[in-house]
Amino acid sequence: MPFNHITESDLKFLKTFMEADQVSTGESNLNLHSADQAYHKGYMPEVIVWPKSTEEVSAIMKMANDRMIPVTPWGAGTSLEGNCCPVAGGIVIDFQLMNKILGIRTEDFQVDVQAGVTYKDMNKVLAHHGLFFPPDPGANATIGGMVANNSSGIRTIKYGSTKDNVLRLLAVLPTGDVIHAGSRSYKSSSGYDLVRLLVGSEGTLAVITEITLRLAGITEEFSAGVVTFESVREATDAVYEIMAHGLIPAALELLDADAISFINKDGKIHLDERPTLFIEFTGSNQKSLAKDLKVAEEICNNHHCTGFQMGVGRDERNRLWEARHGFGESLMRCNPGLDILIMDTAVPLSQFSGMVEYATKTAASYGLKSCVSSHAGDGNLHLNVIGDMQDKAFLDRLDRAYEDIVSYAISVGGTATGEHGVGIGKRRFMIQEHGQGVEVMRGIKKFLDPNGILNPGKVLP
Ligand SMILES: Cc1cc2nc3c(=O)[nH]c(=O)nc-3n(C[C@H](O)[C@H](O)[C@H](O)COP(=O)(O)OP(=O)(O)OC[C@H]3O[C@@H](n4cnc5c(N)ncnc54)[C@H](O)[C@@H]3O)c2cc1C
Repeated sequence: MPFNHITESDLKFLKTFMEADQVSTGESNLNLHSADQAYHKGYMPEVIVWPKSTEEVSAIMKMANDRMIPVTPWGAGTSLEGNCCPVAGGIVIDFQLMNKILGIRTEDFQVDVQAGVTYKDMNKVLAHHGLFFPPDPGANATIGGMVANNSSGIRTIKYGSTKDNVLRLLAVLPTGDVIHAGSRSYKSSSGYDLVRLLVGSEGTLAVITEITLRLAGITEEFSAGVVTFESVREATDAVYEIMAHGLIPAALELLDADAISFINKDGKIHLDERPTLFIEFTGSNQKSLAKDLKVAEEICNNHHCTGFQMGVGRDERNRLWEARHGFGESLMRCNPGLDILIMDTAVPLSQFSGMVEYATKTAASYGLKSCVSSHAGDGNLHLNVIGDMQDKAFLDRLDRAYEDIVSYAISVGGTATGEHGVGIGKRRFMIQEHGQGVEVMRGIKKFLDPNGILNPGKVLP
């Protein structure tokens, strides 16, 4: 559908209900909202708006819908699949000014927030109440962006991903209509699940303005270990067995020897350069935690681990998780002038060892330099490929490896993306993964966004 460009009279109209400094067509602001944090090329929007309320978002959407102007919601811009790139120009709605914590209900372990609050800022405040929101992507994302991408992280293995922790949403439809979805109850069998429809919809179905999140209590007791192996296969087989034993780690992460070497090069911590698992159990009883770690140690010994450093102290543990969280940034710092493509796939746990083996061998067969960082306990692989995206020959090899690796994940019952979303990068795999289901998705999109103005060019092929 042909879109219209922003006119002087549109800008004037936007300023009738927002302050002048909430609307910008300045070059630097447009640039800052043109691309995400991955290698995707930039697309210039025409205007950036910073609404302060749901009412303002509703007025923006109504105007855009009436005038057929594309709109892209924007959280912190940390996406990795081009999710927030304004490919059709138009309006970018930046949620920076909608960053309030509206209410903390400690008695129900819940918080109400505006979409633009960042999860790190929110968790700092929640810590004073002994609570936290567990899904934690590596970047300081907004809650709106996390909900829209259904992101997750190292704690998902115990607490679930974002979708498992969103109870209620306030959302503005492309027409400007405002809807509530969900309730404050943990359980509900009431009607179609609109919360789950909007979580992970990447800003293509509605603009989310307020969110009620389910929280967890901060557990003080922990038991952590670092385990090294001769081979990645031994490490991934140990992961399967740890999970098969019914242990519930609070984190179970895999880094291969090359990934560890980048952490070492970055200099904050020094680890043995071998395939490594970071394991942590959390709870209220130190005795049972130590017992869990002991079982994990036995399993790792059966898989010929070369080192099992148990009972890591608080400082050392914090340094380890800092290194793991900062891994993406370490990778960039250690490879100046090069780009990183993170292939994010997830498979059923029984297929995880095969997935890692297939992905690393395939990347090597195309002559690509790569390393593994993985939320292993979830069966979620990140294969980080390092290279120059301006180099046509490299891009061609990368593209073929990408096709093979994602197709393999789908063929063993997995998914094209475990947590980074579809964006631009994974659209081509949607029919392969969902078949006729894509037609249902198209129908939903058409119903909610008949003019196709909301984040066009994303998710659907
Ligand atoms: C170094 C690094 C490490 C990362 N590690 C992880 C990780 O471990 N796990 C993980 O899941 N992700 C990870 N990511 C990816 C990224 O941080 C997440 O996808 C995050 O959720 C994006 O949030 P954001 O606020 O930056 O959203 P943006 O990137 O700004 O937007 C994300 C999507 O949400 C839409 N959107 C934003 N706000 C709204 C709203 N209010 N209403 C409707 N739609 C909206 C946008 O249009 C876009 O489609 C990482 C990124 C980086 C750079």
